[in-house]
Amino acid sequence: MTIQTDAVIIGAGPVGLFQVFELGLLGLKAELVDSLPQAGGQCSELYPEKPIYDIPAWPVIGAQELIDKLLEQIAPFAAGMHLGQEVTGFEQRDDGRFRVVTSKGTEFDAGAVIIAAGLGAFQARRLRARGLDELGAGNLHYKVTDRQQFAGKRLAILGGGDSALDWTLDLAGIAEHIVLVHRRTDYRAQPASVAKMRELAATGRIDPIQGMVTTARGVPGQLQALELTDLERRKFEIEADEFLVFWGLAPDLGPIANWSLEIEKKQIPVDTEKFQTSIPGVFAIGDINTYPGKKKLILSGFHEAALAAFGVQKHLNPEARQFLQYTTTSPIMHQRLGVDSGK
Ligand code: FAD
Repeated sequence: MTIQTDAVIIGAGPVGLFQVFELGLLGLKAELVDSLPQAGGQCSELYPEKPIYDIPAWPVIGAQELIDKLLEQIAPFAAGMHLGQEVTGFEQRDDGRFRVVTSKGTEFDAGAVIIAAGLGAFQARRLRARGLDELGAGNLHYKVTDRQQFAGKRLAILGGGDSALDWTLDLAGIAEHIVLVHRRTDYRAQPASVAKMRELAATGRIDPIQGMVTTARGVPGQLQALELTDLERRKFEIEADEFLVFWGLAPDLGPIANWSLEIEKKQIPVDTEKFQTSIPGVFAIGDINTYPGKKKLILSGFHEAALAAFGVQKHLNPEARQFLQYTTTSPIMHQRLGVDSGK
């Protein structure tokens, strides 16, 4: 099924979310797509607990709190949210509209595309080791989709954060044995999880070790062992049936780099009138864009979203006159916001 919409917004970070609001005020419908399972971009993924001090009228607001407020603010516009899927491609059709597709096969027919992709889509940090790529290992995992596939197996779990520890504790109940590999002796995960892991280590179910991976060994399709160096630079090897890597997420421009858009040092150049890219009808706002004087701030992205909304309106309806209306006094905006004009 193809979803028809005025605009597809690629990226549900703070700037992509606010874009829904600015389009909504102008009566335009939007669909949001994000590769992460939750909205909020860097704010939710990288620093949810940190206070932000430079959002106008908020002397201080937590990063996740800001995202929660934005979600509340855009709720009246009921934008479709397509999370956990990356936009892998788009093409301009003969009628000037855009076909946008995601990694989960969701397809949009959109009048405009707004790229609010920040630093790029967040992807699992990959294991790098000599000889690994050549193996094409099918037993190397970056997420768990079916925990039963690890039952009765010898596992090597790499990482020291919450995901690594959570899965170590979870899979300890069904795996034959787990080696937990981390660079240091201290873990970033919740202290309670670390304490539980140490309890299990004392029983021999888990073997926590320190080391840096250097080399992969195996047969085509299967990783069999990793060679590591320990904190004293001594070499050693671990063997396992399945290898799970939880090294967190890192942003990657990904498919956007191949979209025949002008790209400058991993950023998309735009004009500062409409924040339009080198392709008419495709706009770029927030951290992903560049122009003289660009500052990667949430505040700047909000301004860009407001002007891009007018740009989208003009693109969809070039003949129509554009009016600036105030949310305080505009009955049509009140209607769109679902608020009572009499108050
Ligand atoms: P992002 O927040 O990066 O969101 C982009 C989203 O797009 C991501 O969720 C990503 O998964 C998604 N995406 C990318 N490509 C695709 C694709 N192909 N398909 C689907 N989804 C895709 N700014 C301030 O103004 N004040 C501060 O105090 C401040 N403090 C900060 C502290 C830290 C530690 C960090 C890291 C940043 C801070 N920033 C601050 C910067 C601020 O977070 C960014 O400017 C802001 O997040 C940019 O918003 P965005 O919506 O443009 O992009």
